[in-house]
Amino acid sequence: MAAVRPTPRQRLPSAGRPNTPRRQWLGRGLMLLAVAGVFMLLTAATAQAAPLPPARHVIQPGDTLAAIAQQYGSTVEAIVAANGLAADDALAVGQTLIAPAAAQPLLPIETRPRDTLASLAQRYGVSPADLQAINQLAPGQRLAPGQDLLLPVRPGQPSPALPPGPILAISASPAVVRQGQTVAVRIELDASQPASVTLALPPQQIPLRPTGAAALTGLVAVHAFTEPGYVWLDLAWQAAGEAISQTLRWPIQVVDAGYPTFDIVLPDDKGELLAPEIVQAELERMMALWNAPPTPVRWRRFFQRPLAEAFVTSAPFGQRRSYNSGPVNSFHAGQDFPAPQGTPIYAPAPGSVALAEPLQVRGNAVLIDHGGGVFSGYWHLTDIAVSAGQQVQPGDLLGHVGTTGLSTGNHLHWELRVNGFAVDPMQWLTTRFP
Ligand SMILES: [Zn+2]
Repeated sequence: MAAVRPTPRQRLPSAGRPNTPRRQWLGRGLMLLAVAGVFMLLTAATAQAAPLPPARHVIQPGDTLAAIAQQYGSTVEAIVAANGLAADDALAVGQTLIAPAAAQPLLPIETRPRDTLASLAQRYGVSPADLQAINQLAPGQRLAPGQDLLLPVRPGQPSPALPPGPILAISASPAVVRQGQTVAVRIELDASQPASVTLALPPQQIPLRPTGAAALTGLVAVHAFTEPGYVWLDLAWQAAGEAISQTLRWPIQVVDAGYPTFDIVLPDDKGELLAPEIVQAELERMMALWNAPPTPVRWRRFFQRPLAEAFVTSAPFGQRRSYNSGPVNSFHAGQDFPAPQGTPIYAPAPGSVALAEPLQVRGNAVLIDHGGGVFSGYWHLTDIAVSAGQQVQPGDLLGHVGTTGLSTGNHLHWELRVNGFAVDPMQWLTTRFP
């Protein structure tokens, strides 16, 4: 399996700032609205250069995922993740698949005095040539104490590079994540060394919860505008009775999701509805709800579709958007399903109703708290069938499709938030998150 060579800009910050969080994007901006009645988070994309795009493969008769993976130096797991495939999806001849380079987790370490490539390779059980190639070091280059390096980690095996202490292993699922997707991170702990652990993908704080006797699980939202490459989780832990916490940075590989771009022409008569203070006040109201401290997880299996199968999506999550041919600096934060007025909308998973009321922008809106920092939203309903505080089960009626609020046609805008960040809700129909 070929190692993924990070470009200089994907590498760690310079020595001396080992724990400086790498920024995913430069800032978040105002909310804007489309005439379709959907919401976009305006963001400034990061200024990093994108690596080469992953290969695209048009499926031929007789192709298998294993054969495609071999052809492109990829893995079946990476292809499944990059294309949002479900385990039982059939491959169609003519279908185009993204074939990302093989996923190889890389672990950041800091060199100690007198470390050499040879001594590091021996300590961590890796090849000196791999270390040199991954870190783009010149032959014979000396290492400085405190220098940041990346170590290859064998997938599926406990990392050899974790420092002694309470953290035994870290794993991410899916191992390769598409822009805008959710990834579950599992941290295995040594039960004999009690410690408090925190996890963040700055500026995102990731709530951790116990899963099993000696493990913690957190759900990470990968922003839809994350540049392909690596994002770095900041893990910190503090052993019981110790004053100093230790930190570690853990990489997650992000691949291009291939989101389409769409230009929206705003008619003049929508100008009044776009008043920024109305949009902002409503957004702040929603943020206060979905950024609240997480409640206990309530889902136990896959999420269900909120509408019957017959209703297919029009505007997908992640669609890049520009307004009146302006810059592409926003994306569709949910999934749109056009459907006739009155089409029933069902709860996709257990939860409690956090909000159920008419809003100016989102129209008749329902927001469900599924626990664990996960919320789902249903906008533009013609009527609402639940009330705030009510507990719902999968399949319970939430309301009916309409075109209330800032919307120009009957449709459901379905939105999923993880730790306050909009993620692809369709992933949750085919992936069972812990
Ligand atoms: Zn929408």
